[in-house]
Amino acid sequence: MKMQVAEIAKAVEAVNAEQAWPDVNVTGVAFDSRHLQAGDLFIPLMGANDGHQYIQSAIEHGAVATLWASDHADNVPESIPVIMVADTLTALQQLGQYYLQKINPKVVAVTGSNGKTTTKDMIASVLSTQFNVTKTHANFNNQIGVPVTLLSMEPNTEVVVVEMGMDHFGELDFLSRLVQPDVAVITMIGEAHIEFFGTRDRIADAKLEIVHGLKEDGTFIFNGDEPLLQERAKEVSQHQRTFGLDATNTLAGSEITTSRAQTQFKASLWPDATYTIPMMGAYNVNNALAALLVGDTFHIRPAAAQQAIASFVPTENRTEWLTGERGEAILSDVYNSNPTAARRVLAAFAAVPTKGKRIAVLGDMLELGDQSDALHMSLASELDPATIQSVYLNGEHMRALAEVLQDKYPAGSIHYYATAQQPQLIDALTAAVEADDQVLLKGSHGIHLENVLAALQAAP
Ligand code: ATP
Ligand code: MG
Repeated sequence: MKMQVAEIAKAVEAVNAEQAWPDVNVTGVAFDSRHLQAGDLFIPLMGANDGHQYIQSAIEHGAVATLWASDHADNVPESIPVIMVADTLTALQQLGQYYLQKINPKVVAVTGSNGKTTTKDMIASVLSTQFNVTKTHANFNNQIGVPVTLLSMEPNTEVVVVEMGMDHFGELDFLSRLVQPDVAVITMIGEAHIEFFGTRDRIADAKLEIVHGLKEDGTFIFNGDEPLLQERAKEVSQHQRTFGLDATNTLAGSEITTSRAQTQFKASLWPDATYTIPMMGAYNVNNALAALLVGDTFHIRPAAAQQAIASFVPTENRTEWLTGERGEAILSDVYNSNPTAARRVLAAFAAVPTKGKRIAVLGDMLELGDQSDALHMSLASELDPATIQSVYLNGEHMRALAEVLQDKYPAGSIHYYATAQQPQLIDALTAAVEADDQVLLKGSHGIHLENVLAALQAAP
């Protein structure tokens, strides 16, 4: 970006906006002084630490101006212009919105319980075949990340794809009104943050806030397989298009096949084409369908969109295929787990062909509140002895699932270990695994299944 300090002071309604400002060009923003680049505006935020205390470091890294909270009378720097504001976070958001209006690209906003980042990246990949696109960097999707995304746009940006996360009511309302999307996308409704929201109904209500700022002539694109969204969409006046596996959707996926490295499917609007996603997991078909539908809304040529999905590079693929010490294939996803994501990964894992047995190692899914037992038990729907022959469970919350599975599985195939018994789990598992087997590892970070992974990869 390129803005004059005087312009910034005006955009953020600075207390001292009217003063005479030097002719200084600002080429970016940074709120972390360690990542600040020469030419940046420093934005001291009030987080766990007060950002104002890092002003010297910011100046050393090349800050050419800074925002400053007007109630911080101490240590006001003298060597660079200081833009005084009531609240620095609000000022960052105002500046993001000002710059967005100045560049005036089309805005695509993406939310959902799972699949936001993947879908955001796929949409950007599809739209990049015809437009200059800026997208959210990595997972930068909150009240800070969204304005920072806007401020990262090159002046020639034609479309900006913005990931939006939330864990409370009101957050998406705010972000949606800030960016006023031309297209708003909801990938799906799951159970993430259910501890706070209580029910999936309330999660759906909170996600629907993404249409609050949707332009009158904008398009609402959502997962039509989700009744909670169908129901709420009736109250939305803007144009709507849906994706999913149900044939009634605007864009319906079918004939899904998945292997370790890729997933293939057909899409109803273009029945002659077969689509390939370079990622495992049938759930990614939904993400790709959302991206294709956004592409169609922007009149992207179908062949270009197909190619963009095939060559798409995920920012961070948390599920990773590795090879164990005995030659077994390991699907590792050890840093994150929630019920929806775990069920999807189990379904994907069960569908990948193998010559040996399939073994699932599942760790507790943390922070699920008082529905924790029921949500752990819900994984049973994806565990079937015909496809996943044995299951190792680790953690106090997994006890409930272990009990359900005892009735469903032959004796000796369900192995339960309390949190502290992970070493015993490792001993039993490493003794059971053979060369042709396929092993899934999935659990919340706090359960540390990375230790199990390390044991499988080390010599027995
Ligand atoms: P975060 O809330 O951390 O930003 P996200 O919504 O951006 O997550 P991704 O990073 O795209 O989601 O995917 C994270 C995991 O969610 C995947 O590894 C997969 O297990 C699961 N997942 C992805 N897409 C879907 C989907 N459409 N439906 C269900 N689960 C999905
Ligand atoms: Mg994300």
